[in-house]
Amino acid sequence: MNKALINIDYTFDFAAVDGRLSCGEKGQLIEREVSAITERFIQNGDFTVFAIDVHELNNHYHPERALFPPHNIRNSAGRNLFGSLREVYERNKQSPHIYYLDKTRYSAFAGTDLELKLRERGITELHLVGLCTDICVLHTAVDAYNKGFSIAVYEDAVASFSQQGHDWAMEHFKAALGATIIKGKGVC
Ligand code: ZN
Repeated sequence: MNKALINIDYTFDFAAVDGRLSCGEKGQLIEREVSAITERFIQNGDFTVFAIDVHELNNHYHPERALFPPHNIRNSAGRNLFGSLREVYERNKQSPHIYYLDKTRYSAFAGTDLELKLRERGITELHLVGLCTDICVLHTAVDAYNKGFSIAVYEDAVASFSQQGHDWAMEHFKAALGATIIKGKGVC
């Protein structure tokens, strides 16, 4: 079965102490797992997607404008991949298996060509890591479910500002989306 890793929003703004919409320590604690899992997918030659929020500073039409402070603004340092993940990406970005994807909504599928990229590679199984468990990871998982992909979520490589939201989403992945929950780096 062809599988892909969808690495979601592990950026400075979402993970750093002084990020604009930071998950704080919870976001920083998953750094090693996120990087190790990503490195493994790349080394295996599996399709590895970096699905990264991009926002314009004065977009009055964007629905998140009323919900969150400005974050992941185009060309800002806040959009940089966080910590060691940035090095993993920089070292491997020429690989044909890596796809850096700008997204403007929670779901990596919303308004992007992600589905085309996955279908043309015959990929049927999506593995999810990143931030935040109950927002962008959740919405990407819901879309993946509706499109018929099977889903795996790495419990130690997702996090949220809200522990309650994180816990609820983890249960939802399993109970409502039929996702496999993988502890640690897993062996797949
Ligand atoms: Zn956003």
